[in-house]
Amino acid sequence: MGASDFMKNIYDRAETPWESKAAWQIVNRNLDYLIHRHRDELKNAVMLARNMEDSLESMFTLLNDLCRATCPWCPAPCCLSAEVWMDFKDLVFLHLAGHPIPDRQLRSHLKKVCRCWRPKGCVLPRISRPWICTWYLCPTQKAILLRKSCDARDKFSRQIQTVKDCRRKMEAEFIRVVS
Ligand code: SF4
Ligand code: SF4
Repeated sequence: MGASDFMKNIYDRAETPWESKAAWQIVNRNLDYLIHRHRDELKNAVMLARNMEDSLESMFTLLNDLCRATCPWCPAPCCLSAEVWMDFKDLVFLHLAGHPIPDRQLRSHLKKVCRCWRPKGCVLPRISRPWICTWYLCPTQKAILLRKSCDARDKFSRQIQTVKDCRRKMEAEFIRVVS
């Protein structure tokens, strides 16, 4: 399968989150192949992934604080009902930034709970979680954030915007190079 077929395949399957083990292995093998084949031309995409990694890491202190203040006492953990999976940008980021790839897509079926959830929380390191798991704040956490200073809230908004921009540019650059 050529690079353009691969990209077409991804977007034809935009609603399918590679839930079977075989589909998951194929998409990850193809990403590996394309990244090795276009290693030199993908330097800008790798730089965007690194910028994104820095921005994500700069958010983790606040996110960990919010989680510590709320999650251990939560009566209805959001992960049990979240319709979450690794999307294409999540996967491209993990590959370009050199982070481990989970063995399987996070859900085997839309009605199943995320494979990474445990009673004590998520087993994935924050950097490896889908973007939606990072930016999502539940109402309790939002209420705590609202009590923080204007500067802290503005900083968080800016960090979110930076990651969103990096994700969009990184994906566009990846597709431009491999297509
Ligand atoms: S983020 Fe909010 S809803 Fe989700 S587990 Fe933590 S406290 Fe509960
Ligand atoms: S990846 Fe982690 S944070 Fe995201 S839904 Fe699954 S258990 Fe929750």
